[in-house]
Amino acid sequence: MARNLEPQCRQCRREGMKLYLKGDRCYSDKCAMVRRPVAPGQHGNSRRKLSEYGIQLREKQKVRRIYGILERQFERYFERAEKMKGITGENLLQLLERRLDNVVYRLGFANSRKQARQLVLHGHITVNGKKVNIPSYITNVGETIAVRAKSASGIDHFKALREGTGRTVVPWLQVDYEKLEGSVAALPAREDLDLEIQEHLIVELYSR
Ligand code: SF4
Repeated sequence: MARNLEPQCRQCRREGMKLYLKGDRCYSDKCAMVRRPVAPGQHGNSRRKLSEYGIQLREKQKVRRIYGILERQFERYFERAEKMKGITGENLLQLLERRLDNVVYRLGFANSRKQARQLVLHGHITVNGKKVNIPSYITNVGETIAVRAKSASGIDHFKALREGTGRTVVPWLQVDYEKLEGSVAALPAREDLDLEIQEHLIVELYSR
C-alpha cells in the first residue's frame, strides 16, 4: 500500500504548525515544533511571501498530511464531496473525518491516526461486529466500531485503554471504554472539528 514516507515532524515544520502526527510526543517538549519551529531545508529560516496559489496549495497539503492521504486519493475525496449536497469544503472534511482510521483515533483507541491505521490494517477493529481492515472505510450514523474481542483481551495497549479515565470524545461519537466500543451518533458538523483549516482555500485551488 502506498504511503507518505516523509518524516512526520518535518511535515509539521513544512506547514508551520503542529499536525499532531506522533501521538503523545506532540504534547511534550520533544515536539519539533517546540524545539525547532522553522521550515525544513537550507532556507527554512527565511520568510517567503506566498502567492495566492501557494497559500491554497499549502492548505490542501496540510489537510492531506493531517489525515495521511495521498494526492490521488485526496482528489477522489474532493470529487465525491463536490457531488454531495451542501458546501463542498465541509463535505470534504466530513468525509475525511468519517474514515474508519480517523474514527478509531477520535474514539481514543489510538494515539495518532497512523497508529489507528495500523490497528485497522492488522484486523483489530470491527464495524457492526464484522472485521473491517480498510482504513478508508467511510463510517455511517448508527454503526458500531469496536476492538475485536480477541485483540481486546490479548493486547496490552487495549487492556490499558480499559483502565484509562477522564477522556472525552468528539460530540458526534459515543464510546464505552469498558466494552472498547463506540458508535457514530451523528455526522460530524463543521463546528465539531477542532482543526485550524480553511477548507474554502482547497475548493478555490481545485476550481482553478
Ligand atoms: Fe508534529 Fe510535534 Fe507531533 Fe512532530 S511531535 S509530529 S512536530 S506535532
